[in-house]
Amino acid sequence: VIVYNECGEKMDLLTHGKKIIKKINDAGYEAYLVGGAVRDYLLGYPIKDIDITTSATPDKIESIFEKTIPTGKAFGTITVIEDDDVFEITTYRKDGTYLNHRKPESIEFSNQLIDDLKRRDFTINGLCMDVNGDITDAFNGLNDLESKTIKTIKNPHERFQEDALRMIRAFRFQAKLGFDIEKETLEAIQKEAPLIQKVSIERIQDEFKKMLNYETVKPSIQTMVDTGFARACFELEEGFKKLLNVPELNGFERIYRVSLKVDFKKDPWKFPLKTLRKIETFNDILNAFNDIHPRLFLNYPKALIDEVADYHLKVSGMDLKNELDKVYKALKIKDKKDLAINGLMIDEILKPTDKSMIQTLLNTLYDKVLEGALNNDKATLIKYLETRKKDL
Ligand code: ATP
Ligand code: MG
Repeated sequence: VIVYNECGEKMDLLTHGKKIIKKINDAGYEAYLVGGAVRDYLLGYPIKDIDITTSATPDKIESIFEKTIPTGKAFGTITVIEDDDVFEITTYRKDGTYLNHRKPESIEFSNQLIDDLKRRDFTINGLCMDVNGDITDAFNGLNDLESKTIKTIKNPHERFQEDALRMIRAFRFQAKLGFDIEKETLEAIQKEAPLIQKVSIERIQDEFKKMLNYETVKPSIQTMVDTGFARACFELEEGFKKLLNVPELNGFERIYRVSLKVDFKKDPWKFPLKTLRKIETFNDILNAFNDIHPRLFLNYPKALIDEVADYHLKVSGMDLKNELDKVYKALKIKDKKDLAINGLMIDEILKPTDKSMIQTLLNTLYDKVLEGALNNDKATLIKYLETRKKDL
């Protein structure tokens, strides 16, 4: 009940987050909202998820709340679910030695808030808020929010050497927030860029995927190209350049466009098969636009064809919508399964020894029906098949 206000409406996530903090405080521990939620709140952006940092150990958090998931318990993180809201609660951490420019070798819990803030990447991500809404700003993050600056906490060279993924994160926040990367931080990226190759491809792809979904990604792509980071990062430069001189695309369209210059099927990329297939299909449909044939609509879903037409319009300025709609409306059948006979029936009627003939004949029937050369009824189609018997 605590998450409903007097009018019975569900309270906003931030208010709910403060209630969670209060519960932890009441149990005798420190707790703060931290990171993205505080940053986005101060910027007036909607908050999607809340991270909480606390002096309580994971075991304590599990005992305070009813519904918990030990998401990353070894690293101090417990997920708390309350009334459909989700909170990631992490015990104050001090990162141990960094190994090989990626994740820390070991982590250590701490009872000092400052230790936890020190390990965070950028000053604007190192702000935290207590139960009263008061902000702790240990690294001048408020100033950097004001001046729209992305700046590492402490020495940028050291921070990127510890975890090279932070370089991509700098570009991601540039894209997301429309901020600029501060001079020293940018110079450090220029120098440390090759370290990115040490980071696991999954983490890299995660950050890029988020980044390519922001509408305002172009300045950040431009910076990655200009600083040489794009080249150092698995030769993405030519791919990223493809994004610069086109109107705004959506997330998948951007990935597709980069794929014209970067082979995502090859090492080191690890895209899900689903994405690779969609890239391929997108490409096939785009090629088929050179000479629009009614069978296009039997081979691919109409919605996907429309999606490719949208992309085609954006990158070429040529609108094929009317032409495609005309062809679609005139279709005698709109789906392969609408043909009056199927492969099984062809097999029964003609009993071809070479079974691959079945598909060939089906394709011929689709075309003839689509062209209007044959009526889509069983008798007509069987009669036509009889005439082909001699070819078998
Ligand atoms: P978004 O809303 O876009 O997710 P976010 O700030 O919540 O932004 P996350 O990637 O969810 O970004 O990370 C949450 C917080 O954890 C960050 O604000 C930052 O304080 C810290 N953080 C995340 N990744 C790193 C990292 N690689 N190095 C240091 N601190 C990090
Ligand atoms: Mg987040």
